Amino acid sequence: MTGTSRKTNNPSITLLKTSRKRVLSSLARGVADLYCPNLPILPEHIAIMGGITFNYSNYEDYFDGMLEHLSREFHIYMNLDKAPQNSPRSRFTFAHELGHYFIDEHRIALEAGLTPSHPSYTNFQSENIVEKEADYFASCLLMPEERFKADCFRKAFGPDLINFMTGKYEVSATAFLLRYVHSEQVPIMVICSKDGKITWRWESDDFEFKYLKSIKGSIPGVSVTAEYYKSGIEYTAPQNDLYAEDWFNYTDHEPNTFRLKEFCIYAKKQNMVLTIIWY
Ligand SMILES: [Zn+2]
Repeated sequence: MTGTSRKTNNPSITLLKTSRKRVLSSLARGVADLYCPNLPILPEHIAIMGGITFNYSNYEDYFDGMLEHLSREFHIYMNLDKAPQNSPRSRFTFAHELGHYFIDEHRIALEAGLTPSHPSYTNFQSENIVEKEADYFASCLLMPEERFKADCFRKAFGPDLINFMTGKYEVSATAFLLRYVHSEQVPIMVICSKDGKITWRWESDDFEFKYLKSIKGSIPGVSVTAEYYKSGIEYTAPQNDLYAEDWFNYTDHEPNTFRLKEFCIYAKKQNMVLTIIWY
């Protein structure tokens, strides 16, 4: 519910404030610890314990999930046409809808009838702050802070960590990265692109480069991601022979000899790439 999802050629740079992220992470951890002290986190179980009803059905392309408030009752609609029940994507969608319930401001707006309940989409493209809050809550609910940090502690970032964490927490790579970017581990940027155009991006607060070398939302020409769009070349390991200036416009205080690592997760069917850049 709440917020529209729209396609944009402008990279997403709307970020939640650090103080707000702390509140949401702490709230999600409290809910997870109360209802699911062990892994995996079970969104359906949390709903049952919270007195929220739900159903799974086929709603075609209309939404991934939807939280409805009617006659003082809350109900979550889950769309099987978008993802099978209990798949990583479905679990994230369910956790997102739980966010609209557990985040006081979201629930109160629904109860007061201030916000019409309407569909939400698990594609991370919405610029609506309410949707961003629910997404962040979902990542923190499925990967509660203490457990997440203990599992990432002193582990180098890379494909091995992604595989380990997505398997252990039953989440998608995207959900894991949303959590990781905001967990103050390493300076990192995540960029989602489709057909060579950037659809959204996330970056950690300490990621020093802000200005993508991108014309009209296109992927910079000298990059691993660009190689895929130009020639279909896929790499299974991170590449570390890139310079900061390959991806970012030069800034005074950053020498253009600064090296970056780039790793891509490809979704060939959709012609999409999830690009991860870190140093
Ligand atoms: Zn939503």
